[in-house]
Amino acid sequence: MIELHNHLYGSLSVEMVYEMGKNNPNPRWNIFLELHEKLFGEKLFPETFFEIFDSPKKLESLYYFTKAGSFEEFQSKFNLIIALSKFDPDEIQEVSYQVACKHFSEGILYLEYRLMYSPFASQEDYYSKTLAACKGLQRAEKNYKGYNAKLIISLHRDQNFEQAYLWLKSLMQENEIVKNYLVGIDFCYIEEGFPPKDKFNFFQKVLEDNQKAPEYALAILYHVAESFNDKTPDSAVRWVIESSEYGAHRLGHCIALGIEPSIYLGQVRKESIDERRDHLSFLISRYEEISCFGKIPELKKLQKELIQLKNKSGCIEIIYQTQEVETLYALQEYGIKRLKENGTIVESCPTSNLLIGKLDKLEFLPVKRFFESGLKLTISTDDPGILNTNLQKEYEICKQLGLSNIDLETIQTNSLTYKSEILANRYSK
Ligand SMILES: [Zn+2]
Repeated sequence: MIELHNHLYGSLSVEMVYEMGKNNPNPRWNIFLELHEKLFGEKLFPETFFEIFDSPKKLESLYYFTKAGSFEEFQSKFNLIIALSKFDPDEIQEVSYQVACKHFSEGILYLEYRLMYSPFASQEDYYSKTLAACKGLQRAEKNYKGYNAKLIISLHRDQNFEQAYLWLKSLMQENEIVKNYLVGIDFCYIEEGFPPKDKFNFFQKVLEDNQKAPEYALAILYHVAESFNDKTPDSAVRWVIESSEYGAHRLGHCIALGIEPSIYLGQVRKESIDERRDHLSFLISRYEEISCFGKIPELKKLQKELIQLKNKSGCIEIIYQTQEVETLYALQEYGIKRLKENGTIVESCPTSNLLIGKLDKLEFLPVKRFFESGLKLTISTDDPGILNTNLQKEYEICKQLGLSNIDLETIQTNSLTYKSEILANRYSK
């Protein structure tokens, strides 16, 4: 088996999180306690925390995210890890080692782990922590011959990502282990407010650097259309298309691209007028191509709306009636076509989509539609520790959706060609 979308610390078992917390003299309690109280109305105190949660079993109720909820609720679970961990190089090395050993022992031959640092991390933090993670993975590989694990660093969407990228590139040149294990960069965490268009120049720089020095090439991975409460699903689909066209190699989740459009029937969705203008311009400029896939509003109507919104600000409400649902379907089909043309890969994480995407029913998951459309697809666990899942379970969900064993084998075999180093053309020279 092969797994390509996996967050290192989100893979920690509840036992590991418990041990980490018990052995940490100074947990950063506020990171967890404040958000937990805000979301769940439960006030917990550092002094009595481990008296109440005196075993991994007891900690499960705080740690596991097993009921559908908002991204913020999911984040509060991740914050428990952040609060209890020291997140120093020694711990990072140990976590990398232990998590990789656990996955290798489950029969996963190849994994790529994502790791994210504080937005205020210094160059020294990037150096020491990245090296520590690589060393941990290298140690695990020594115990499991023929198994491999690589590292992806997740950058912050809002700050310092260009600087952090340069630090990582210079570290690769200085250090052979990092050069061999670091294979990509990623953008994750809250996506609302951070349109892909803001990353266009950065993506071009990374792609140019990859071409100039393939031996240091990094794949671009990008979480998109996982959470889109601030806009219409249509705009979220456009974000997916733009991410692909700007050069991201693999896209995380893309729920909006494959979700059943009729679930929006009767709903009212809000988005900013800026977003709506971007969307109307997109529809107008690609009108012929998109309308091949279904009935979309008349061109004149779209042009008129765009003119009416000129110089306006604030928000707009869109009511989803039959026409809007049909338009969303056509846009999704167009988006799938564009991703196929660009060779972009979608990383689908069923349990994560079901719970963080609040999809209610298994059949609303986009994974089956993605597969049947011929889109390049890989199946992953995202945060198997917090979500209390594993790769086997994710494949079982796909089976329940109607994918056959042969389909799943095809996905596995194809995933071998979606490794970051291959996508970034690291071996082109
Ligand atoms: Zn993820």
